[in-house]
Amino acid sequence: MPPVESRYRHIPAIHRLLELPTLQAAAEDLGHPPVMDACRRAVDRLRDRVGSGELEEDAIEDACDALEGEILRSLRATTDPAYPAVINATGVLLHTNLGRAPLSPQFSPSLASYLALEYDVAEGRRGQRLAPIVRRIARVCGAPSAVMVNNNAAALLLLLSAHTRGREVVVSRGELIEIGGSFRLPEVMAASGTILAEVGCTNRTHLADYAAAINESTAAFMVAHQSNFRIVGFTTGPSVRELAELAHARGLPLFVDQGSGALHDLRRWGLPPEPTVASLLEAGADVVCFSGDKLLGGPQAGLIVGRSEWVEPLGRHPLYRALRPDKTALVLMDSVLRAHHGDHLEEIPLYSMLEIPLEALKRRAGRIGRRLRAAGVPARGLATRAALGGGTTPDETMPSYGLAVPGGQRLTQLLRAFDPPVISRIEDDEVVLDLRTVPPDQDRTLEDALISAYSGLQANQDAGA
Ligand SMILES: *Cc1c(COP(=O)(O)O)cnc(C)c1O
Repeated sequence: MPPVESRYRHIPAIHRLLELPTLQAAAEDLGHPPVMDACRRAVDRLRDRVGSGELEEDAIEDACDALEGEILRSLRATTDPAYPAVINATGVLLHTNLGRAPLSPQFSPSLASYLALEYDVAEGRRGQRLAPIVRRIARVCGAPSAVMVNNNAAALLLLLSAHTRGREVVVSRGELIEIGGSFRLPEVMAASGTILAEVGCTNRTHLADYAAAINESTAAFMVAHQSNFRIVGFTTGPSVRELAELAHARGLPLFVDQGSGALHDLRRWGLPPEPTVASLLEAGADVVCFSGDKLLGGPQAGLIVGRSEWVEPLGRHPLYRALRPDKTALVLMDSVLRAHHGDHLEEIPLYSMLEIPLEALKRRAGRIGRRLRAAGVPARGLATRAALGGGTTPDETMPSYGLAVPGGQRLTQLLRAFDPPVISRIEDDEVVLDLRTVPPDQDRTLEDALISAYSGLQANQDAGA
């Protein structure tokens, strides 16, 4: 082993690094201090590694050669978007990790300009911020009254804080749900100061269980939709209509956490039915709350609809100020609701993906597959199943179509390294790309990504062989 001092002799001085053309260009772009800082950190890291004796002489030289690339990568990481756009080829339409419902650029033209957020244009004076969206939500959902907050967790927190704090709410043990992203119904209830009165069993709860749970402290019944799981087999539970009748006979309201925000009969797209918001209100629910970014296909939001006596006080509650949506969510929600109202569902990306005929997906897969094979990528068309995802219809999928390419984990990794990253899945050691979640105008990009990733894979294998 060479003497300690000589092991450091390969490490370039900071001022030498700063003379490299790439880093000079970076300094012109970003300013001198961040580039200097990145060089210093990279060199310090390398000195530490050399000092620890983990690197042989050859490895030290290699690490010095790699410094420039490392510094450029760390600089890029500081300027790249934190939330890059990706191509979702997973076939999961509401992918929680990929932002649930994708939005259309057409939804938000007014966001780039001043807008009449709290301004009455006709009168030329201060207007109401909440009233326009409330009217819109109420009309679309067929509800007397409505409120919008940041998400469905906030909707429940507000509803319970306002009406059941310090009192009991009766919920079936089969509905004490956890939704991804750390939403747990019992914990939200506790945070609102509500006392949870559990009734029944995981698989079976009877109307009589609810009746027996009522005491002088009972404030409401609550039903939580089993969004992301199913209990099958020996199961039973009262209908919303039966529960509403019992609650009302005892002077109590029925709250329903519907979750998905289904406004339309899902059978229209070959999916199993979910209770729609309107059907729950019609069955007697006093309040229904749900997310804005699931089956509504909009921005993250929580919507609360129902009878005025329960919903209207929520907009005046002190917590409302803390939970109210910002202008971006209000503008986006307004656009999405107008599309629902006019039945222009094709304007909502979620519904345009649901509506693409299988034949169209097959044609696209055929076209992309031919071009890929011509470029030396052994892709084949593949019948797939796409899923709604996002805590909706957990066990049901719809026919879809895509491409399969041999490649395994390494290929999915190379696809993610493409710009824009392509997110795919693996089935039987083949990489599967479902086209239902890929907008057709991204087909060419997907093709480029596959060609680039596949050649990367082969270069890798050649190097390894
Ligand atoms: C999704 C969901 C929630 C959580 O909604 P967020 O908008 O993510 O806060 C709560 N309850 C049910 C039944 C859900 O499906």
